[in-house]
Amino acid sequence: MTTPTADDARIAAVPARLAAVRARIADAARDAGRDPADVALLLAAKTLPDAVVRAAVEAGATLLGENRVQELVSHAPALADLSPTVHLIGHLQSNKVAAALPWVACVQSVDSLDVAERLSRRCADAGRELDVMVQVNVSGEPTKWGMAPDEAPGLAAGVAALAHLHVVGFMTVGANSPDAAEVRAGYARLRAVRDDAVGSAGLQGATGLSMGMSRDLELAISEGATIVRVGTAVFGPR
Ligand SMILES: *Cc1c(COP(=O)(O)O)cnc(C)c1O
Repeated sequence: MTTPTADDARIAAVPARLAAVRARIADAARDAGRDPADVALLLAAKTLPDAVVRAAVEAGATLLGENRVQELVSHAPALADLSPTVHLIGHLQSNKVAAALPWVACVQSVDSLDVAERLSRRCADAGRELDVMVQVNVSGEPTKWGMAPDEAPGLAAGVAALAHLHVVGFMTVGANSPDAAEVRAGYARLRAVRDDAVGSAGLQGATGLSMGMSRDLELAISEGATIVRVGTAVFGPR
């Protein structure tokens, strides 16, 4: 007999926690007068062993988010038989573009024209196209990646002009604050950026809003999130 490990405990808890998060999303969508089917659940897989992420996909999760290319290239091949859709949600260094690209359907964390141009060139080489989101720093916290809200439309327009990329929306990591009004204001800001952008050339498809995490997904959904990114509530504390 083998001793149960911390990973075994996490794995055992995943199906019920996943169901609880789905129920939170459905309740929040209904409270906001929205269709729960319009809010996708992305599971943030950072720091987790392959087996724990696998348990979530086996329990029905279809969309995964990876922060680090190093983890992406471990998780993605280990889960390839289950074909989850994988988005990059962490900062992408230019020198990691080539390693990341084969595994991802969307890069949500585009925060410079330089990285976007590299992605587009690599896509050209690979004969493919790629969905991207522009990451916006709505809280202004200096530790967070992303463009300032005022500069995001300009970057989005530049990215939209690249031949192999499709801008499908905007992503933010909300304020790390106990003040719900402050968190909500940030999400409303991202929605305003999105609403302005979709009226511009090349950005009609940029309707997505990736915002909200374990602690605040209800706020994000009430402000229009189309993707919430959840780690802790499904996998337990990191
Ligand atoms: C970790 C992470 C999440 C999920 O955060 P939780 O609080 O664990 O739900 C969402 N988005 C990004 C970019 C993350 O790094």
